[in-house]
Amino acid sequence: MSDDRRIRIFDTTLRDGEQAPGCSMNIAEKLNLARQIARLGVDVIEAGFAIASEGDFESVKAVAAEISDVTVASLARTSVEDIDRAGQALAGAKRPRIHTFIATSDIHLQHKLRMGREQVFEEVDRAVRRARQFTDDVEFSAEDATRSDWDYLVQVFTRALEAGATTLNVPDTVGYTTPVEYHELIRYLRAHIPGSERAVFSLHCHNDLGLAVANSLAAIQAGARQVECTVNGIGERAGNTAMEEVVMALKTRPDVFDGLDTRVRTTEIYPTSRLLSQVIGVPVQPNKAIVGDNAFAHEAGIHQHGVLQAAITYEIMTPQSIGRPSNELVLGKHSGRHAFRERLRELGFDLEAEEFQRAFRRFKDLADRKKVVYNEDLEAIVGESLLDQDGRFRLGHLVIQSGTFAVPGATVELFCDGESRKATARGSGPVDAVFKALAELTEAKCELLNYHVKAITGGMDAQGEVTVTLAESGRRVMGHGAHTDIIVASAKAYVQALNRLEWQRGRSEDEPRGI
Ligand code: MN
Repeated sequence: MSDDRRIRIFDTTLRDGEQAPGCSMNIAEKLNLARQIARLGVDVIEAGFAIASEGDFESVKAVAAEISDVTVASLARTSVEDIDRAGQALAGAKRPRIHTFIATSDIHLQHKLRMGREQVFEEVDRAVRRARQFTDDVEFSAEDATRSDWDYLVQVFTRALEAGATTLNVPDTVGYTTPVEYHELIRYLRAHIPGSERAVFSLHCHNDLGLAVANSLAAIQAGARQVECTVNGIGERAGNTAMEEVVMALKTRPDVFDGLDTRVRTTEIYPTSRLLSQVIGVPVQPNKAIVGDNAFAHEAGIHQHGVLQAAITYEIMTPQSIGRPSNELVLGKHSGRHAFRERLRELGFDLEAEEFQRAFRRFKDLADRKKVVYNEDLEAIVGESLLDQDGRFRLGHLVIQSGTFAVPGATVELFCDGESRKATARGSGPVDAVFKALAELTEAKCELLNYHVKAITGGMDAQGEVTVTLAESGRRVMGHGAHTDIIVASAKAYVQALNRLEWQRGRSEDEPRGI
């Protein structure tokens, strides 16, 4: 390895993260996130699994075309079609990487692949050589490595290396390993694969036992130099290694990690976490390390004097170091374009001209209805301005009646492909009536699984934030809406979920899953 001291961050938020239920993103959403993740300073962005769906292919292509200072990767199985599809999607990339994988555990060989060990060698050899025809940067992953025979793994990785792979990834696909075991496995592989010093060893952990970050750090200490991870730790089942936790562990304990470091700009961590949360509509748990609401105890309303004392006693890192805005200043109806833009910058949002205009209009509209506009309100505004620009449905006017005497009812206008449609419905309450009218207008056959409303900030004029989860034939989507009127917020959330369902319908139910 040429640069032995640097830990490479391989961000798979857009691929493994997106595989999590309710976390799927469309192309515009992926592009917005990719821009921010690139700004964060990761080394590799895995933008998708090109052959998995048309949407994945287009997403990889779009990210590859726009993001030039970061390596862009596509996942691929070992078949010729998979490799070629990845190669095509990455054709416009400045730094393309093909990431190919095949399972190596006997469990997967018998029950999934129905292949013998010898056949897997051939697959690996052919896939890596084919990938090298598209790019010099080829990563090979041995799926379910942590439940594979170690000596067989040595042989598989040796074949991959000989065929031209430059990164060797050792995934704990099912979240099964423990720190000491994983550490020993990485050391074993490095010691026994001939020419292992030519490869970058990579780790990929899942959090089924809550050990993803601990396992990742153990692998780093054993010589792994690439961390596969996601923002907020999203991903299949219990999720992947959380990027922010690994990065801050290395930063905070250089004594333990021997000064190994990443090139991540840590002040972009918090804005990236918030952006992801806005885009997918999945909140971060309050006690989540680094980015959760309660992660920095002194932010919980203790005053300045106490903070200064507590900082020394309890603070192992500062909120500023991860870009949490300390400034509680608020905006109001007299705040202009300049102040609005400045505040968005502080929050980490750098909007394109058109998105900015949209966000500014929403801000003015909100400031007319609400005395003070907090950072949380701004995040909701930006979230909405980034989303659903190309959705099929858009909410028009909405009138409801409810109360102790009236029968709850709603008349809703919805634009479908730009064309106005109206429907009136009754319900057990105004929200129910609105949802019934929307379902009628869109002929949606979906079921409402979950409805959740909360106030974004304190105060009588706070915006309500509504999250709905809809299900239709096995697909699950979430929608998110914010407004000072919770009925309007509910309608917005429902419409967003319907738009996502439209997008999901374009995807096949038996899409292949990655490592
Ligand atoms: Mn995975």
